[in-house]
Amino acid sequence: MARLIFITGGVVSSLGKGLASAALGALLQARGYRVRLRKLDPYLNVDPGTMSPFQHGEVYVTDDGAETDLDLGHYERFTGVPSAQSDNITSGRIYSRVIEKERRGEYLGRTVQVIPHVTDMIKEFVLSGADDVDFLLCEIGGTVGDIEGLPFFEAIRQLGNELGHASTCFVHLTLVPYIETAGELKTKPTQHSVKELRGIGIQPDILVCRSRYPIPDDERRKIALFCNVSPERVIPGLDLSTIYEAPIRFHEQGFDTQVLAVFGIADAPPPDLSQWKWVVDRVKNPEGEVKIAVVGKYMQVKDSYKSLSEALAHGGLANNVHVIMEWIDSEIFERDDAAAFLENVDGILVPGGFGERGTEGKIAAVKFAREHNVPFFGICYGLHMAVIEAARDLAGLEGAGTTEVGSPRHPVIGLMTEWTKGNQLELRDRGSDLGGTMRLGAYPAILSPGSRVAEIYGTTEVSERHRHRYEVNVGYVRQLGEQGLIVSGWSPDRRLPEIMEIPDHPWFIGVQFHPELKSRPFDPHPLFASFIAAAVHQSRLM
Ligand code: GLN
Repeated sequence: MARLIFITGGVVSSLGKGLASAALGALLQARGYRVRLRKLDPYLNVDPGTMSPFQHGEVYVTDDGAETDLDLGHYERFTGVPSAQSDNITSGRIYSRVIEKERRGEYLGRTVQVIPHVTDMIKEFVLSGADDVDFLLCEIGGTVGDIEGLPFFEAIRQLGNELGHASTCFVHLTLVPYIETAGELKTKPTQHSVKELRGIGIQPDILVCRSRYPIPDDERRKIALFCNVSPERVIPGLDLSTIYEAPIRFHEQGFDTQVLAVFGIADAPPPDLSQWKWVVDRVKNPEGEVKIAVVGKYMQVKDSYKSLSEALAHGGLANNVHVIMEWIDSEIFERDDAAAFLENVDGILVPGGFGERGTEGKIAAVKFAREHNVPFFGICYGLHMAVIEAARDLAGLEGAGTTEVGSPRHPVIGLMTEWTKGNQLELRDRGSDLGGTMRLGAYPAILSPGSRVAEIYGTTEVSERHRHRYEVNVGYVRQLGEQGLIVSGWSPDRRLPEIMEIPDHPWFIGVQFHPELKSRPFDPHPLFASFIAAAVHQSRLM
């Protein structure tokens, strides 16, 4: 059975627990171990699929179609291990399973309670299907002391007890703030946080202390003393200029060595950090820069486009350039001329999105890119906008639009009511629940030989992840093709356009899926690598 590592957090949220977990996973992997990472989220939503990106950041989608917390994106980017539905669970899902079971009479009339029934369900989730890895890392969302997180903390406490020390390790992440007026780092919040954790029966084995400044040895010893751990198990987690430096720095601080020591492992091979060194070197020493305008809707919260900004940065790594991202709220183009904002950029990207607001502005951005030969990348809703623009301006279809926004005269984007997944027919209609009725997860696409995308991918068969309800209306494909916007990737049954491109443009590609979800720092997604290469070319023309 896998050894379990639980990662909890205290003091404040947003300390980077997800990143610390991902970096630890990467370090264990770099030592030759097989790892899997899971996230337990205490909120009551059944999954994050219907949560606002403003509140919750991006919804990450797995191959098997789960809409998950964005931390799973960090896990994948750091370890390259594709995550699955079974790697993210919320209180909402746990409770609904318990209630379903109760309704089916499976509790045989017993009183159903948080302990043991909810905690048993959590434990079952944690332990299921993890036999094929050496280490299972479980991050608990939220901070210790949150009421809604208690069942999770109780469940992992029980697991620690049942499985014993040879099989479990508790890592707790805290903050060591610097108080300006005193000119000192303060350890008290960490002490309180650990006290809280011990109050619910969990003694942490390792503390990761986030701090802006190096933690002096004296303070490290003090934290160790008050928190009942040894000083070398107080791991400083300093702010970094790039997140991809985390595995290297954590290793220097002994994080992975101490985790292994908790399990009594002293003879593990040293980690091979060469790929992380390559990534960090590339991030820190670019040979040039390009400017990409991202024209979308959820611009105030950068986490809403987490995977996208990472994938663009990866495209930069592939071309040895730094990618400057200009986040532009598309509504601006509904008032002002797009040219003023887009004249000096080397590439324009319209990302995924939902609903009416800002759509006309996105269409204006597409028009600018198409007419001025600026590299253009449309992702999901971005493809829809490109199709609408071409329908209106090239094919002369006045009133072309998507049925997601009103009832357009020419519904060039519309709701598909059925599609095939594997051998199964999936159905949806306007009245379907919002949660889980989208076309979600990995679907194959067949690329036209000789097309630009086939050349970029270097193959004619790809699999990419989807998250959308609406599709390009095949009824308009011929007309659009005659105007130069062709379908170059289809679903295998040729019912759904997956990729469209304008061959007669320096770089104009729209995709129905989300390629950003599969990009890795050490394995940049080909579409992003190629888009940034086109932007580099564009920057030299200017
Ligand atoms: N709103 C569009 C749809 O549902 C696109 C979704 C997206 O961009 N992910 O089809």
